[in-house]
Amino acid sequence: MIPQQFNSFRVHTVNRNKLQRALGTLAATTVLLSVATVFFGPHHWRSLADDQTANHPWMDKTLSPDRRAEMVLHELTLDEKISFVHGNGMPGWGAPRPNAYLGNGGAGFVLGVPRLGIPMVQISDAAYGVRSSGENGRYSTALPSNVAAAASWDVQAACAYGALIGRELRAQGYNMTLGGGVNLTREPRNGRTFEYMGEDPILAGTLVGNRMKCEQAQHVMGDMKHFALNDQESGRNEVNVIISKRAMRESDLLAFQIGIEIADPSGVMCSYNAVNGDYACENKYLLTDVLKKDWNFKGFVLSDWGGTHSTEKASAAGLDHEEPEDNFFGEKLKQAVQAGKVSMAELDDHVRRVLRSEFASGIVDDPAKKSVVDVEGGLETSRHLAEQSIVLLKNDQGVLPLDRAKLRSIAVIGPNANTGMISGGGSAQVDPPGHGATKWKEHIWFPTSPLKAISAKTPGATVEFDSGADRASAAALAKKSDVAIVFAYQWTSEDFDLPSLSLPDNQDALIAQVSAANPRTIVVLETGSPVTMPWLNQVRGVLEAWYAGSKGADAIAHILFGEVNPSAKLPMTFPRSEADLPHPQLLTPPTGAGREGKTTFEVHYDEGLKVGYKWYDAENKPVLFPFGYGLSYTTFTYSGLKVTAGNETTVSFTVKNTGSRAGEEIAEVYAALPASVGEPPKRLVAWDKVHLNAGESKEVSVPARTLYLSVYDEGSDSWKLVPGSYSFMVGGSSQNLPLVEKVNLK
Ligand code: BGC
Repeated sequence: MIPQQFNSFRVHTVNRNKLQRALGTLAATTVLLSVATVFFGPHHWRSLADDQTANHPWMDKTLSPDRRAEMVLHELTLDEKISFVHGNGMPGWGAPRPNAYLGNGGAGFVLGVPRLGIPMVQISDAAYGVRSSGENGRYSTALPSNVAAAASWDVQAACAYGALIGRELRAQGYNMTLGGGVNLTREPRNGRTFEYMGEDPILAGTLVGNRMKCEQAQHVMGDMKHFALNDQESGRNEVNVIISKRAMRESDLLAFQIGIEIADPSGVMCSYNAVNGDYACENKYLLTDVLKKDWNFKGFVLSDWGGTHSTEKASAAGLDHEEPEDNFFGEKLKQAVQAGKVSMAELDDHVRRVLRSEFASGIVDDPAKKSVVDVEGGLETSRHLAEQSIVLLKNDQGVLPLDRAKLRSIAVIGPNANTGMISGGGSAQVDPPGHGATKWKEHIWFPTSPLKAISAKTPGATVEFDSGADRASAAALAKKSDVAIVFAYQWTSEDFDLPSLSLPDNQDALIAQVSAANPRTIVVLETGSPVTMPWLNQVRGVLEAWYAGSKGADAIAHILFGEVNPSAKLPMTFPRSEADLPHPQLLTPPTGAGREGKTTFEVHYDEGLKVGYKWYDAENKPVLFPFGYGLSYTTFTYSGLKVTAGNETTVSFTVKNTGSRAGEEIAEVYAALPASVGEPPKRLVAWDKVHLNAGESKEVSVPARTLYLSVYDEGSDSWKLVPGSYSFMVGGSSQNLPLVEKVNLK
């Protein structure tokens, strides 16, 4: 593996000098060939024999990762132990460290111990694809954004998503990902909403878990982030989130709990913000009481980049590893151990967790090997995943799918709709082919051209483009065309929140003017978050395409022309306006100097359990499009609900395709808990995605896990199923639930 090659190169160079000095007149070459027993490693002595990794007892694959980690731990010096608990810098993050050349060009690396056969960990961001291709001269597939993947509600698609990223990481010489974002959409203006999996903990947790399980199956170390409640970017390093235990356990933390249970990820990244007074990366309740004790998390906690604030406090709270440098977990931690301020047992626990994850993920037994990324395969997967994630929001008078036989002229309108589609920024950014290193906050349009994809489908029609910069000209084109398709975008990124949920750059006015000129207007949204739609009543069709990835335009064309029947459903509510949000006003930090390293303002999540649809339900606020909503080109009916209570509750019902073409229906099951428990009106407890041919019916049977029906009892610090009457509701969206049955659960 690449890092080891680097190590041995350095080892041999240093060793030669030492031997030459020690052996005086003996020819160095002879010595090297004949004796070659002792040489100097990057941070310790080792012998050649030790390089025969297969001979180490911990290389026995039949032993458990815990046992193997324990065996290695006993061999380590204090310096070696310390080297496991911090990173070694990141390109572009301060001055490079002397060993920066050992890195693979990603977000960081952790030294290995060559004498013991322990490899380096090469880490890359990889939210919707592997980052940093531009500066490293590599190529990465951009998948649809994470929120798009959530819109598929599809565990197999989530698995394909993770597996592809895992393969591309390894091909590029990485063995650890920083993907796995699963913060709940409490604040839809959050600039990272596209990196997460929506507003429901059970949907988000299940999908992130399956994604990471399959990513790790490629033998890379997995990660889930940002733990926890990093639900807005504004003042992310200085905000103190105030929330009750019950509310966090049943919402944001539950998503992590489910994901961790499914994937057993190597790492959990603690977030920048503080929670109830303590920074997440030194928050004992989050890191030790909940994550390590209650959930029995076996991996290691790594800090978000620069999110470590202390040595002793953070270590005692359960932080295992500082990134990207060693400001607190390098020399300072070593001294604290030597002074008895941090016990060796505590340090050992941090190191053991890192080692255990290295063995469990397979990176020791099956080191990453560089190879050529499977470009064609990746594009195919990306398109297929996009087709499963594009939500049909409106389809009046059956304007879609478009009938090629009847169309003579099509207007394609919108900024860059002739050349590309927008992608999400920040550390999630994937660099497009033909592009150098992206700059922070640069708007990146992937070269997947809606104009070309639509033209390719309609050789018999005139397809014309207008950027929309001049609204009158766009409207004139729309007027003379049979149909107008407007590609509207909203760019979002890490490091800032949206000022509002409106489309930027006067695009609302553009859509209004185009649809006034031609009512047969279809809007395709390329957004990372929900947007408001003041023009909704004037247009015939709306597709939410999110950030659709490397092959977004082809996926959209397949849906527009009906080769693919849309099946995705919203993983988050689209509100009517910001005024309806739990926090109409986004809270931002105070201005002025001296704010570094401390909390300066609080955000009170007093809405508590009422996240997303639970808020709108409880507050009786009408919405633009509800959670779980999405249309198809066919229609479905539901019947025959049966709820069987027992050890596990099972919900059965029949779904029928009543239309004239095959389609897939995401059938959703919600439960209303007994009134006494004070929960929001309902919660998602299960779903299934059913493929049905025209006229076909299927019986669906899904378990409603006891955990998903339970409430978190703060008094006993445990989950409780409250005995009483539960209503189970089944249907095609959170606001269209035709089947209802009440049962008593004990
Ligand atoms: C982000 C993380 C990311 C890290 C490394 C931070 O700014 O919050 O999500 O993994 O940088 O790039």
